[in-house]
Amino acid sequence: MRVSPGGRPATGYDIVLQAGVLRETAAFLTDRLPDCRAAVVVTDGNLRDLAAPLTDALRGVGVASALHVVEPGEKSKSLESLHGIYGTLLDLKADRRACVIAVGGGVVGDLAGFAAASYMRGVSLIQVPTSLLAMVDSSVGGKTGVNLPRGKNLVGAFHQPAGVLVDPDVLRTLPDREYHGGLAEVVKYGVISDAAFFGWLEENAGAILDRDPAVLVPLIARCCELKAAVVAADEFETTGVRATLNYGHTFAHAFENLAGYGVLSHGEAVSVGMTCAARLAVSRGMIPPDVLTRQTALLERFRLPIELPAAVEAPPDAVLAAMRSDKKNVAGALRLVLPVRLGEVRVFADVPEEQVTAALTP
Ligand code: NAD
Ligand code: ZN
Repeated sequence: MRVSPGGRPATGYDIVLQAGVLRETAAFLTDRLPDCRAAVVVTDGNLRDLAAPLTDALRGVGVASALHVVEPGEKSKSLESLHGIYGTLLDLKADRRACVIAVGGGVVGDLAGFAAASYMRGVSLIQVPTSLLAMVDSSVGGKTGVNLPRGKNLVGAFHQPAGVLVDPDVLRTLPDREYHGGLAEVVKYGVISDAAFFGWLEENAGAILDRDPAVLVPLIARCCELKAAVVAADEFETTGVRATLNYGHTFAHAFENLAGYGVLSHGEAVSVGMTCAARLAVSRGMIPPDVLTRQTALLERFRLPIELPAAVEAPPDAVLAAMRSDKKNVAGALRLVLPVRLGEVRVFADVPEEQVTAALTP
């Protein structure tokens, strides 16, 4: 599968989706980046055993390499971790022909991606996503970055990879909560751009929950195609097309802020957020209630919450305040992505705040 950011085939790259492809990483690198002599494999502590053999394979093809392991979790998406990766690159005497290989979830992908975007003004990047979220979302599209103490993703760059290698076999070890969280983004793709895919998810929900490889491959492929199409149409999030990926996310970011670390995963927050957004669309008469019912049923089938857990204190005023501070808003106006039918969303900047708060509860 080919991704052409901004619709320019010359800057395109391949997504290779195939069981066992992780072990082909060194061969992929020598094929696509024949001048590369140094590569740093970045991963987190949970994935060390998966990533470590890559460095041996790279040395076997004449590429100096090092394994750089960060602690698992969002806190590794920091400037400190970035410094660590620069250090490993310098130790390897990496020059501008070097490559950074990200083996991990979205945290490793964003962090290693930004290291690649910035080291010596930019070196090559290969994404090897290992979480479902990274496979269907963060590894495709070129957004990289780290968090600052004052907020998430405040420093970063667009840096498209030289390739994305997706090995569905590695999902076997992904913890359930992470897997289900990734499914929230999968449901999102159906609602925002592909009603037939949504129907396919409903029909195959059991096999999807069982992580049956026979359904995982087409599932990941369709999500990557949908994301690639958005990136082709709107690489830098300027035309509004890419903003449609934010469906459920303005609500979700507010919930994540209010819930505090660990209480609500991103996917869980997105699930509740999509429920609020669809409810809002129903209340405005934009979609029939049946769309909300189907979305709710599928999210619940995927073991996702459709309401905030009781432990999260989220009074409507606090949710609104948090939503207003979302960095995707323009000139302070709330911008909400709402469905206009199953498979199509639009961005609205004129939703009265009373309607938004009314949609927070059933
Ligand atoms: P993550 O990278 O923290 O991974 C989740 C957990 O799963 C980690 O503990 C990790 O070690 C573990 N894990 C990953 N793959 C595994 C596997 N195969 N087996 C066992 N354990 C495994 O989190 P995530 O949900 O993958 O990514 C979240 C990050 O992605 C956030 O920082 C978010 O901002 C970012 N993101 C970026 C984009 C983008 O376009 N760049 C899009 C969406 C999200
Ligand atoms: Zn998301």
